[in-house]
Amino acid sequence: MAGGEFALIRRWFAGFGAGDDVLLGVGDDAAVLRIPEGQVLHASTDTLIAGRHFPIDTLPEDVGYRAVATAASDLAAMGAEPLGMTLALTLPGADELWLHGFSQGLAKAAKTFSLPLVGGDTTRGSLNITITVLGYTPAGRWLSREGASPGDQLYVSGTVGDAAMALAILSGDIAASQLPGIDEVEQLTRRFTHPEPRIALGAMLREVATSAIDLSDGLLGDAAHIANASGVELVIDSASLPLSEPLQAFGDRERALGWALTGGDDYELLFTLPEGVAPPPGCTRIGDVRTGHGVICDREPEQRGYDHFNY
Ligand code: ADP
Ligand code: MG
Repeated sequence: MAGGEFALIRRWFAGFGAGDDVLLGVGDDAAVLRIPEGQVLHASTDTLIAGRHFPIDTLPEDVGYRAVATAASDLAAMGAEPLGMTLALTLPGADELWLHGFSQGLAKAAKTFSLPLVGGDTTRGSLNITITVLGYTPAGRWLSREGASPGDQLYVSGTVGDAAMALAILSGDIAASQLPGIDEVEQLTRRFTHPEPRIALGAMLREVATSAIDLSDGLLGDAAHIANASGVELVIDSASLPLSEPLQAFGDRERALGWALTGGDDYELLFTLPEGVAPPPGCTRIGDVRTGHGVICDREPEQRGYDHFNY
């Protein structure tokens, strides 16, 4: 690589690693982080492959931002406070323009989500971005997929299906006559490029929710993870799904509901609360928890969620 691997790391990835709990960041054999007294460490890794997780011509700024945001969403789902992250980056070459944009997107997300970049690995190959995020919660007080019980109620934050509609638009799958206005297209596309991991909501839910998961692979598929882990049945009412304006206005309601139920990439939180516990603002009740197993919905789309190994 021009200037060498270490020059590249110094130039593009060494500048946003400072944080209150970072004792040693990029440059040594390992980073050293402090975990506040009484807290336990959470670790989660996500890989993004060009052409699979994002269109190959996505702006590098957006790739960098999105990589961090989607990884941070797993911390949100655990109710964890962000501590830091590492980046394993495989690059086809040292394309300065791409690295500049990517590093800027990464830096912006690092700041927005309080995730200093404290280390990583840089290799050559086809474009692959792997981010490991670290966070913490009080010992014994984190969210998991396991705790839902019959009688609880099922909630989701924000709106669902936006990122899926954005992808349908970007890939030319929507007839011109059905396209929303330019502002709506921009709003939807932003949902895909700039997901908002619900970190503050997760921390709040830590105190009250009985289970939680973040929506990365589609609502029905991710709901099934809660149902399986908790040993319960989830009943979802499609009429109650929170849809943004462009989805509500879309001419084909079945298709809009399909995006909401099975489209991935929303990065909202799906969680259960005991009956009588008021949901935080911006969250919508979409169903119930019953005795049984699996997920029941009044609509049954063809594919329930994204699974890399289910052909
Ligand atoms: P080592 O050979 O000891 O494993 P490397 O040569 O892979 O270390 O990396 C040198 C330093 O640069 C390490 O501190 C590593 O964490 C950091 N680093 C490497 N690649 C990245 C990257 N893409 N982003 C951030 N830090 C990185
Ligand atoms: Mg070493």
